Amino acid sequence: MDHHATTPTDPRVVEAMEPFGNPSSRHHAFGWAARDAVEQARKQVSRLVGCDPREVIFTSGATESNNLAIKGCLTATGRPAHIVTVETEHRAVLDPCRRLEREGVKVTYVQPGDDGLVDVEAVEQALTTDTVLMTVMTANNEIGVLQPVVELGALARRRGVLFHTDATQAVGKVPFDAAELDFDLVLLSAHKCYGPKGVGALCVRRRRPKIAITPLIDGGGYERGLRSGTLNVPAIVGFGRAAEICCREMAADAQRTRALMDRLWHGLSDGLDGLRINGSMDRRLPHNLNVSVSGLDGETLLVGLDDVAVSSGAACTSANPEPSHVLSALGVSDQLARASIRFGLGRLNTPDEVDYVVENV
Ligand SMILES: *Cc1c(COP(=O)(O)O)cnc(C)c1O
Repeated sequence: MDHHATTPTDPRVVEAMEPFGNPSSRHHAFGWAARDAVEQARKQVSRLVGCDPREVIFTSGATESNNLAIKGCLTATGRPAHIVTVETEHRAVLDPCRRLEREGVKVTYVQPGDDGLVDVEAVEQALTTDTVLMTVMTANNEIGVLQPVVELGALARRRGVLFHTDATQAVGKVPFDAAELDFDLVLLSAHKCYGPKGVGALCVRRRRPKIAITPLIDGGGYERGLRSGTLNVPAIVGFGRAAEICCREMAADAQRTRALMDRLWHGLSDGLDGLRINGSMDRRLPHNLNVSVSGLDGETLLVGLDDVAVSSGAACTSANPEPSHVLSALGVSDQLARASIRFGLGRLNTPDEVDYVVENV
């Protein structure tokens, strides 16, 4: 129940990857077969995103894509620069911004409302004549809220600012059309949509205008010079297959996970007092639920859930867990943030599993 962290690789994806895991069996023809397979995957990914295949740059995942997009377009400008972003972005956006700040770039972190949604006017007010880039995620990975990216894209276009969106949690889950967004830079990750780990893409607008970015990795000129290094063919083939399956099955998946989510929420709220949902209920991914349980401490909550994959509102990897920066930005107290659970349902979850989780909580 932690599909925002990662998704299981769909068996149909593994099947598509298998022939490419053993190149020697294909002798000299392998090079051609591999090249064709990569180009097919590029088409499959572009169809899911709604861009031209020539705009798709394969990377190692969303973290690399964010770094390439944010650092790459700041380096390419060569003038005093300013970035506008939001406090609830993923660390893969916030950390590159922080590094650029240490190098003299100015960054404004807009605070969202207590429903997690950013106000388009607040973003507009943050723009200055030095603003080069506006980066706002499409869907949040903790609270599932869907930011007003169509309006933000139009604002960026009107003000002559580049618009970048981390669409990792949205693409393949809810309808997404890069063309409608007026996008400049859009990215996604295979392992968040039932593909393999270690592969993703950055889509870079190539016409009206062509976006100039500086690569992070030089050496050989692969991927239109933006990402050198021999391509991970099996992973890219799997990514393409995963994208194709999402195109076809996204609507049905969303309908099913929404029904499971309703079952989960009704089960929890029938049995427990003091529950509150974090994030807007109107603009939200169908498979996300993030709840705080008042009067409980986070550790007690998770001990009872040790055989269920969920995330708490704190980073549990350290001895002294920090409350989630996303919940803090919404004004949730540290104590309540620690007593929060993020559920992310997925393609393979069943009603029985939901009932089991309700019982345990
Ligand atoms: C998972 C995630 C990332 C990081 O993706 P990787 O492919 O694992 O690097 C970045 N942004 C968001 C919104 C995510 O959910």
